[in-house]
Amino acid sequence: MNSWIDIPQNSDFSIHNLPYGIFLRDEKPTPGVAIGDYIIDLNAAAKVGVFTDLEFDTSVFESDFLNDFIDCGKDAWTSLRHCLIKELTAQGNLFEFKEKVIVDRLSADMCMPVRIGDYTDFYSSIEHATNLGKLFRPDSEPLLPNWRHIPVGYHGRASSIIISGTPIKRPSGQSKAPTADTPSFGKSKRLDIELEMAFIIGKSTTLGDSININNAEDHIFGKVIFNDWSARDIQGWEYVPLGPFLGKSFASTISPWIVTMEALEPFRCESIPQEPTVLPYLQYEGQKNFNINLEVGITPEGDEETTISESNFKYMYWNMAQQLTHHTVNGCNVNVGDMMASGTISGRDQHSYGSMIEISKGGKEPMELKNGKTRTFLEDGDTITIRAYCEKDGVRVGFGECSGKILP
Ligand code: CA
Repeated sequence: MNSWIDIPQNSDFSIHNLPYGIFLRDEKPTPGVAIGDYIIDLNAAAKVGVFTDLEFDTSVFESDFLNDFIDCGKDAWTSLRHCLIKELTAQGNLFEFKEKVIVDRLSADMCMPVRIGDYTDFYSSIEHATNLGKLFRPDSEPLLPNWRHIPVGYHGRASSIIISGTPIKRPSGQSKAPTADTPSFGKSKRLDIELEMAFIIGKSTTLGDSININNAEDHIFGKVIFNDWSARDIQGWEYVPLGPFLGKSFASTISPWIVTMEALEPFRCESIPQEPTVLPYLQYEGQKNFNINLEVGITPEGDEETTISESNFKYMYWNMAQQLTHHTVNGCNVNVGDMMASGTISGRDQHSYGSMIEISKGGKEPMELKNGKTRTFLEDGDTITIRAYCEKDGVRVGFGECSGKILP
């Protein structure tokens, strides 16, 4: 597909992608679609008549968040996508009003794309769960008895989910070293990342209703990169018996552009076989996993970046449809804009692990950086950048970057 807009080769934001985000225009948060190094201002496009043939109320683009548009439903998402592809490949209204409607992406300030009501974090990578089990409970079986039967998860904090580029203040809290008799208070010394992706709910449910696995994906609007910053020393002391709390809730960073399920469709792939067979409500047909390359880079203050991990979303043991089906099987309702994170995505070898605690074997084996220094956990001034992209038959659909810098 050729467009009259100049799209750099290898751009994450090809015409096959068309992800949604919120950017600042004249200091107002405004819905947009990324294309190459540009953004299509959806509100401006609606005002000049680009969307007159669409059957949903395009005043939803006056909103500061995408929730109202997402709530218009799947037919609206599809019709807008088709309209944009048509307008980008032929010279119609969008071309005619391009000076008003199209802005530079590289200089744009991005905002939170959705108002997140609730956030859930899963724990769905078998490699990560096994690695962490060994580190946190060295004397017992690493994978707990429920893990292969339930997509394990917990309810997190939506209030501290932040947009890429927002700095992270090193959290303080209680911790207790294994050799100490009593806990102490102070800044976290074992500050870590978690390489995750998150999906955004596109269709609400009513309290008491459950989502059937066969139409679970109809309830998903799209995905972002998700870095679930973690303070391992705080986590290690507090997590028994109810699980993650302050070691996780200080910040989680998302990438600004939501890549839709429709754009991800060509990148479906087989999942890891599930043994033993899961209960019937979690059984599914077809390919429910996605081949999405993931990379993590660390950049010390004023220095160059070192890639510390290369993983893939396809390593997930539990897929999104199973997660969402399980989440609602008890009648728990979900709302448009809710965010569900995958859990840390680790591959099979040390260079594909999704957290520093795994790469450094609990802090025992420092990783080497390009500047000659080493890291076990994050130091002040470090920036973590996560990138994600799909590529197949010359088609690239990417997520851009998810980054954050650690402040003292
Ligand atoms: Ca997590």
